[in-house]
Amino acid sequence: MRNKPKVAVHKFASCDGCQLAFLNAGEALLTLSQQVELVHFAEAGPMNPEAQVDIAFVEGSICTEHDQERIRRIRNNSQYLITIGACATAGGLQALRNLADGKQWLAEIYASPEYVNSLATCTPISQHIKVDMELWGCPVNGRQVMGAIRSLLHGAVPVVEQDKVCLECKRQQHVCVMVTKGEPCMGPVTRTGCGAICPSLGRDCYACYGPAENINPEALGEEFRQLGLLPATIGRRFHFINSGAEPFTSAGLRWKRDES
Ligand code: SF4
Ligand code: SF4
Repeated sequence: MRNKPKVAVHKFASCDGCQLAFLNAGEALLTLSQQVELVHFAEAGPMNPEAQVDIAFVEGSICTEHDQERIRRIRNNSQYLITIGACATAGGLQALRNLADGKQWLAEIYASPEYVNSLATCTPISQHIKVDMELWGCPVNGRQVMGAIRSLLHGAVPVVEQDKVCLECKRQQHVCVMVTKGEPCMGPVTRTGCGAICPSLGRDCYACYGPAENINPEALGEEFRQLGLLPATIGRRFHFINSGAEPFTSAGLRWKRDES
């Protein structure tokens, strides 16, 4: 990488929340601006979407033909490409339409659906191009983003967190919301990275950081059933922000089928 690496932040179908997490890094962002050249980041000001860069961050999922063309150009222009957030890594909330009849939804929502020009699916960036690293979360947090950039600036491969939220709870000595309150918490199957924010505030995790490594969604679903949840509700716990990420996709489908 050159002395002052060029960095771009690109947006696809998304709510911009992950770009905001980037901006909210505050002081770290000011330090970073002295170490890298931010050449494209529409939300922050600089605009040069076709620039050749050392590191490209990509937010959002691919939902139109235009998106498909644009992400291929971005890949060609980038040495190292990192997806940020659930939309870019798993399709996001908008990927729920992959499990439904998208055309019917359009007809129900829009008066003139024929003007909506989108693909039948909304898919993660990795289904279209090679991705060098994925940062999960809805949204990602600034610490993860800055950590990845710092590693790359020092010539190291960034570390991807794979532990479960449960482990983070134990490290921080949070009281387990499932054991003590009977809340259907997704922490046992969700990767950490957030610092177990929700359990620290006494509420259940809803899996915004996506699936962790080596998980057992069947056992957790059974536990939810013991807590009184209906199969369709269990299915929806897996089919939320990261419905497009395996093994959440298939676990959710199995529980929804159980209802019928
Ligand atoms: S992952 Fe969440 S916060 Fe980030 S862009 Fe998508 S919806 Fe917004
Ligand atoms: S505890 Fe779960 S839902 Fe809450 S921020 Fe962390 S991963 Fe997301």
